[in-house]
Amino acid sequence: MRLLRLLSRPGFHLFLTGALMVLGFVLAHRLSERSGRDQLSALSTERLELYASNLAAELGRQASLPSLLAIDPTLQALMLAPGDAGRQRSASQTLARVNVRAGTSQIFVADLQGQVLTASEPLTPPARLPEVLAQGRSHFFAADPVTGSTDFYLLHPLRGSGPAGGVIVVRFNLAPLEATWVDLGLRSQNERILVADDQDVVIMSSVQPWKYAVLGHADPSRRAALQASARYPQAIGADLALPAALEAHRGRLVRLPLPGDVAEGRPMLAQQRQLVPLGLRLVALSDLTEVRQRAQLAAWGGAAFGASVGLLVLYLSSRRRALRQLTQAQTALRQAHAQLEQLVDSRTAELRHTNDALKTQIAQRLQTEGELLQASKLAVLGQMSAGLSHEVNQPLTALRALARNSIRLLETGRADAVAANLQIMDDMVERMSQITRQLKNFARKADEQVTGSVPLLDSVRNALLLLEHRSRPLGVQTDVDVPADLRVRAEANRLEQVLVNLFGNAMDAMADETERRLSVHVTVQDGRALVQVQDSGAGVGEADLHHLFEPFFTTKPAGEGLGLGLVISAKIVHEFGGTLRARPLPRGMSFEFDLAVAPWESPDV
Ligand code: ADP
Repeated sequence: MRLLRLLSRPGFHLFLTGALMVLGFVLAHRLSERSGRDQLSALSTERLELYASNLAAELGRQASLPSLLAIDPTLQALMLAPGDAGRQRSASQTLARVNVRAGTSQIFVADLQGQVLTASEPLTPPARLPEVLAQGRSHFFAADPVTGSTDFYLLHPLRGSGPAGGVIVVRFNLAPLEATWVDLGLRSQNERILVADDQDVVIMSSVQPWKYAVLGHADPSRRAALQASARYPQAIGADLALPAALEAHRGRLVRLPLPGDVAEGRPMLAQQRQLVPLGLRLVALSDLTEVRQRAQLAAWGGAAFGASVGLLVLYLSSRRRALRQLTQAQTALRQAHAQLEQLVDSRTAELRHTNDALKTQIAQRLQTEGELLQASKLAVLGQMSAGLSHEVNQPLTALRALARNSIRLLETGRADAVAANLQIMDDMVERMSQITRQLKNFARKADEQVTGSVPLLDSVRNALLLLEHRSRPLGVQTDVDVPADLRVRAEANRLEQVLVNLFGNAMDAMADETERRLSVHVTVQDGRALVQVQDSGAGVGEADLHHLFEPFFTTKPAGEGLGLGLVISAKIVHEFGGTLRARPLPRGMSFEFDLAVAPWESPDV
């Protein structure tokens, strides 16, 4: 599981891309280099064979010449008398002729100590001739101090009938062959060739500065020995870092500096071919720079390929991941959608349930409110009945007294006093009829629609009048400040019911106070009349303030208050389009409500 997660990480894919790049680079480099090297090696092996046969053919061309000369009669004759000048001359002529015809450099006859007896032309024999004769060799290489080139010498014994013996020496100059190699080397930049003798000293080379260098390493003593051997026409050159044993076909990678190279050496493939009979080594050196460059190019190609594969894998895996995420997101979305639908269904059911419950509550509330309104009316009616009986009883008693008094005055003939009494009685009856009129108004059923236009001052006065039976004994000082012509949008009975309730509460609150002042103050602004009913009573405590408009909240003793007055008043004001509020004063309370100002109409008759 962890492995899978690791494999699907983008970081891992970047790492993979990097690794594939490196792998591609290394593999392509290796393969390209190997194939280049193999090609070069095959080509070089072929060339090596060609050079070897070329050299062998060149050297072998005259191989039989000395043995043929050995049976020449003039030379045979010379051997019989080596010191004879005539024989020497005729032998010299023979040798000169053969030398010209065979195309060799020189031919001469020497005695066994290396002294020239006769020659194709006057010459100095090579310095190492006595040493070679002592070794009994059939060929040797020696440097020509005059031309600086390497010469090849073929030897063949020449025996006369006498004790003295001699040797025929044929000399070839290899400079022309070497010149073709140099020429080849110049034409093919990639291949160098050299020939080393049995002492590992380069005697021929297509690279001139390599000539007479020692292959491998030569310590000073060996170098001095070589120098003293007089084999070489010039000083022994610097070491050439080539190992002694080299494979013919596979070759060995070496680093050799070429003349003019600034770097420490260029990479070369060294292959060797032994020319056993001659004791020579032919070494071909193929420049690997081009192969290396091609390998480098191939490596970058391989790296690019590796990177492409890595990126392709990265792309495919990111695509797979994106698809998987998309599927997951779709599934999650479907689930969320299903959950949401479920939630909506359950919420809808809840809401329907709540709605039903609310409808039931509203119906119950409406019913309760109707009942409460009725109860409130009854309560007010009770209060009013008490006031009414109080109000009516007094005048009735007074009327009876005045009537009796008038009868007596009539008997005594005091008509003017009777008239005065009748006037007082008339006033009293008028007052009583006023009260009953109010009661009639109060009992009238309220209209459904509030369209009435009520003179506010009249309503205030009526309410005060209805409570006069209470205000008078308490000595309440009333202060009414209401514009005379102000009419408000209300229904007169119910507005008076509100005012009676507020005034009654005010009087209750002031009952135990020394100063009892009730003020009704109205201000008009923006088409609304604000009615403020303020008293100097005991007020309402902070805790009770919030409960004033709750049904059945009362502080009055049982049987006196129902706790419905303010609730119903607030409802009535609300029906008129206003709001009833309570505001505590420094001394007492202020109950305030607002009503729409109605246009002036002629008062009801
Ligand atoms: P009730 O008068 O029957 O008690 P209300 O609803 O009219 O019912 O009044 C509720 C309560 O509000 C009263 O019991 C009283 O404590 C308080 N209250 C009303 N008006 C005033 C006022 N002007 N001053 C002090 N308290 C008042």
